Amino acid sequence: MSTGIHIPRTCIFCGKVFVAQKTVTKYCSHRCNQRHYKVLKRQEKVQQTLEDDKRAATEPIALPSTKSPGNKEYLSVADACELYGISRFTVYRLIESGKIAAGKMGRRTIIPRSEFTKLFS
Ligand SMILES: [Zn+2]
Repeated sequence: MSTGIHIPRTCIFCGKVFVAQKTVTKYCSHRCNQRHYKVLKRQEKVQQTLEDDKRAATEPIALPSTKSPGNKEYLSVADACELYGISRFTVYRLIESGKIAAGKMGRRTIIPRSEFTKLFS
């Protein structure tokens, strides 16, 4: 014997009015159910793509290179020239006059960045 429940409902996909056997039924047919599912999946994918794009836009394109003299604690003469816009001659003159303390790393002259900060402050 039938439960006698016949609820007129509107299919949320095609808008057709149908009689549902169960109150949870949202579609007039299995076909509508499947087709709507596909639409929802596609929208989900689009949403995901948009979010990925947004994330990509906020991420830095490239991390600053650690080779940049701007990040070094010790500078070579060449680094100092590039960073402070002074000539090699000026750097050596500053070292020789004792205005900045430089060290030697093998044949390379290295200058602690603090020496320059001290000099310019
Ligand atoms: Zn339908």
